[in-house]
Amino acid sequence: MRSGRTATVPERVLNFLRDHLGETFCDDCIAKNVSANRYMAQQATLPFGLTSDFNRGHGKCTVCGSMKLVIKAVKH
Ligand SMILES: [Zn+2]
Repeated sequence: MRSGRTATVPERVLNFLRDHLGETFCDDCIAKNVSANRYMAQQATLPFGLTSDFNRGHGKCTVCGSMKLVIKAVKH
């Protein structure tokens, strides 16, 4: 994190997913881990899912075990 300002929610989500490469997370669990609400987490993961660095789709969340829309980082 750069000094002098607080990381934005998308930055925190990005760092969180990259710190847990290959693990899948639902928006709810991402929100809890980056201290954001579910809506903010969802808004952050939507554009990530469009890049080749992330896989977004229906699957099982590593944290809560729910089958729902999840995302994972596939490379750094
Ligand atoms: Zn979850």
